[in-house]
Amino acid sequence: MQRFACPCCGARAYFHNLDCLCGTRLCYDPETRAMVADAPVCANRELIRCNWVADPGSAIGLCRSCAMSRVIPDPGIGDNRLLFDRAERAKRWVLANLSNWGWFTNADPGRRPHFLMLSEHVEGRTEQITMGHAAGEITINITEADALIRLQRRRDLGEQYRSMVGHFRHELAHFLFDRLAVAPDFLPAFRDVFGDERQDYAAALARHYAAPRDPGEDFITPYATAHPHEDWAETAAHLMHLVDFTDSFASAGLTMPGMPPDFRPYEETDTDLLLSVGTEVAIAVNDINRALDNDDLYPFVLTPQVRHKLRFAHRWLSRHPGRDA
Ligand SMILES: [Zn+2]
Ligand SMILES: [Zn+2]
Ligand SMILES: [Zn+2]
Repeated sequence: MQRFACPCCGARAYFHNLDCLCGTRLCYDPETRAMVADAPVCANRELIRCNWVADPGSAIGLCRSCAMSRVIPDPGIGDNRLLFDRAERAKRWVLANLSNWGWFTNADPGRRPHFLMLSEHVEGRTEQITMGHAAGEITINITEADALIRLQRRRDLGEQYRSMVGHFRHELAHFLFDRLAVAPDFLPAFRDVFGDERQDYAAALARHYAAPRDPGEDFITPYATAHPHEDWAETAAHLMHLVDFTDSFASAGLTMPGMPPDFRPYEETDTDLLLSVGTEVAIAVNDINRALDNDDLYPFVLTPQVRHKLRFAHRWLSRHPGRDA
């Protein structure tokens, strides 16, 4: 994520900030990717501390991100309001990242996703929710914004990493697959790299949960082995992780051997350079985290086979649909 500044006093501002110490009310404008003052604010600013500007296209004054949430949880039940707040925070972060590549900007003529932001806590009972994407609609279980619940599930599933940002990146990757698949050259190239996605999805998932395969050298995570669609979503999510933490590193003014001066990860077209800088950043920050006995920032290994898939994901996701239109 890039660095921001208060438009009035120039002090540093962070992406989720609502106010500056100078008294300015801060708003993030997703179109210009900058903090602005005196803009119409999102109607969800009070409810969930959304700091984005209201989208002129929204009849009820929601921002671009909140307007994509078709169904929202009842904020009056249990912790729903706080969990909804945290889930939407992660969603705004991921959408802002993707706008660097032109996705869902005003210049992007393509479809935008709709989100069903659901809570397991509904009136008087608990409901099971399966996260996923189907025909442009993404279901998110906001209950996982509770860190303790998420940690429990991560342990039960034997995962190395699980976060709300990760869920949004994974599900948006499925959505973007559908957007990319209209290009005539996408699917043949995809099948060369990930295999044939037309194989039975339900049967593949059932097989995966009955006996998970070892990811070996070919897959970034065990879940990626389940089906080519999941391999794509996991790989594309990891591409987004890598580019974003490398962007945060470069935006903070940090550098390291092999990193070109004025390095801009979201504009970089050389995937190998991006991955080699990203790997060095991960190793360095993992080591810093160990100084405080914290978990590794990025506990994954990028094998040559995985890099080949990441190259494909990078080439297609960074195509700037808005600019090409
Ligand atoms: Zn200020
Ligand atoms: Zn909003
Ligand atoms: Zn998936």
